[in-house]
Amino acid sequence: MDCDVLYKVVVIGDSGVGKSNLITRFTQGKFSKDSKPTIGVEFGAKTIEHEGITIKGQIWDTAGQERFRAISAAYYRGANGALIVYDITNQETFNNLNKWFKEIENQGENGCLNVLVGNKCDLDHLRQVQTEDGRTFAEKHNVSFMETSAQDNTNVDLAFTSLLKEIYKNQK
Ligand code: GDP
Ligand code: MG
Repeated sequence: MDCDVLYKVVVIGDSGVGKSNLITRFTQGKFSKDSKPTIGVEFGAKTIEHEGITIKGQIWDTAGQERFRAISAAYYRGANGALIVYDITNQETFNNLNKWFKEIENQGENGCLNVLVGNKCDLDHLRQVQTEDGRTFAEKHNVSFMETSAQDNTNVDLAFTSLLKEIYKNQK
């Protein structure tokens, strides 16, 4: 095996918030201007070194299922962590967070660790959700929080690696 531990991380949130681009940015260093929902579940993988341990993150993409409000149970099965994403330029994606937190509570595994991510922070001039509101929401749900940009590569590595390290810390 090319890693010591393997963790499954799912990425959820409304369509268009940048989930697929966060994943390709983290796993391939790539960003794409267009949104191209693929069919079926896909995932990317990336390995990090932490405390002498090789941690492999297997990052699952909804592949557009969220548009039909029909993310399959298989998507959540065995997930060690979840990145719950909204778009800071779209208030509605923030308002829908309650739905996503409920979904991970109901469908996710016990002990699944969540992190809240406000994406597209490069578009500050179009901001509809204040950083403070994101932070307050995260505190209320007892999860960590950061704003990211898949485009500018701001905090993307941090979001995924801090989650993977937190999962590791919780399991050892
Ligand atoms: P998904 O539906 O949640 O998977 O979202 P996508 O990753 O397909 O992204 C939706 C659209 O938002 C695409 O046009 C992306 O180029 C754009 N996008 C994604 N992340 C960012 C970001 O951080 N900043 C900006 N400006 N655009 C982004
Ligand atoms: Mg997508």
